[in-house]
Amino acid sequence: MAIVTRFAPSPTGRLHLGHAMSACFAYDLAHAQKAGRFLLRMEDIDISRCRPEFEAGIIEDLKWLGLDWDDNILRQSERQDAYQSAFWKLRELELLYPCFCTRTEIQAEIEAMGGAPHGPEGPLYPGICKSLSHEQRDQRIRAGESHAWRLDSEMAGRMAGSLEFEDARHGTIAVDPSLLGDVVITRKDIGVSYHLAVVVDDAFQEITLISRGQDLLASTHVHRLLQRALELPVPRYHHHALLLDDKGHRLAKRADSQSVAALRKAGRNPTELLATIRSFAAR
Ligand code: GLU
Repeated sequence: MAIVTRFAPSPTGRLHLGHAMSACFAYDLAHAQKAGRFLLRMEDIDISRCRPEFEAGIIEDLKWLGLDWDDNILRQSERQDAYQSAFWKLRELELLYPCFCTRTEIQAEIEAMGGAPHGPEGPLYPGICKSLSHEQRDQRIRAGESHAWRLDSEMAGRMAGSLEFEDARHGTIAVDPSLLGDVVITRKDIGVSYHLAVVVDDAFQEITLISRGQDLLASTHVHRLLQRALELPVPRYHHHALLLDDKGHRLAKRADSQSVAALRKAGRNPTELLATIRSFAAR
């Protein structure tokens, strides 16, 4: 089967070296095979943060690096129908519950509890809305109270049974349904979340190998639960090490000096830049 990889940036800023590395790895994995394909997807669901000029900048930077993609660009902002039908499927399976909490309420609850269980990305949702009755949920929804929908991770785990995924660097990893807790599946503001959109789109684009940073490894546990519930094919994974600055910090989008655009302006040569990135991969 031909390898299909993808680069899936969020156009909320310019590409920095860390992104270029993700793109380069995905490109190389696809091009290691004659029939391999490398796709580009704009993860632009968060309309308050994404901007057309950032998308244009990403395209310009990828072209300058010579990381050409196959097919048309897929934009998540045009895929709401697909996310909605996945959402309804999860609801029919009774894997979701509405959450009316604000960030402040969640924070206050965590403090009142004297701390919530910690996941790799911080405290987990303390389950405030999970204990609401069906009547309470219906009533608050009917009253027009804004709400997100969260995954009942315990239920999803039970329904899925034992699950795993294959990672090129880490081997076979057993899924821990509780690792990120009851994550948000559809956000209050945009009606979808990263986790739902990414799983639906990776299946839609028939991605066979997902190459992305190690920072998203924990999310893959959630993605496997969603793939199982939505009966989607299971890709292989390659969570690559992150590029760190001299102080050992992750390169953030704010590190403008490390943006591809800034390096280009400073006269760097794209072939050399990719060679440096590839030498990192070999380590
Ligand atoms: N859009 C995500 C980001 O820019 C990447 C998602 C993924 O590769 O799964 O961090």
